[in-house]
Amino acid sequence: MKNLFNYFKEILVGLWSLITGMEVTLRYMFKKPVTVQYPKEKLTMTKNFRGPIQFVLFDKTGSHDCIGCFLCAKACPTDCYTIEAAKTEGGQKRPTRFEYNVLQCSLCNLCVQVCPTKTLEHSRDYEAAAYSPDEYRAINFIEHVGKRATAQGMTSKLGKPVVEQEEKPAS
Ligand code: SF4
Ligand code: SF4
Repeated sequence: MKNLFNYFKEILVGLWSLITGMEVTLRYMFKKPVTVQYPKEKLTMTKNFRGPIQFVLFDKTGSHDCIGCFLCAKACPTDCYTIEAAKTEGGQKRPTRFEYNVLQCSLCNLCVQVCPTKTLEHSRDYEAAAYSPDEYRAINFIEHVGKRATAQGMTSKLGKPVVEQEEKPAS
């Protein structure tokens, strides 16, 4: 009699477990999926996401607002930046060369924090892939921000450099 009782008890426990499992499955069947069909579908990263660094595109300049102060290069622990700067027609110093080696970048955010004109930011790019690492050794920020400005129909209001270039100071 006891064996018969245990037999039915095990059947009931098994059925209950099955019902519980199916309940979870059914509940998730009607929820929005958390996965996306990449690359057809793409995610939008949150504003806290730390992608590779890029220049901020400002309406007021139609470009970046870098003043060639080299503070980012000095703060960078892994020497990611190669910068040259010169005075422009309006007397403001602007970069004439601004290259970034993302392969050395630890995304530590120090350069973003020290920039006095807030012209550096983390991009939301999570698709960093290339055929050769060379494509990431010297990303040209001036060219990159120029392309983004053109895509948005903006024209740069930064003046042209008029004096000899300054070399990046030793860090
Ligand atoms: S995020 Fe950090 S490692 Fe990367 S460029 Fe800026 S300071 Fe250098
Ligand atoms: S800290 Fe900012 S303003 Fe100074 S050189 Fe770097 S990007 Fe330009």
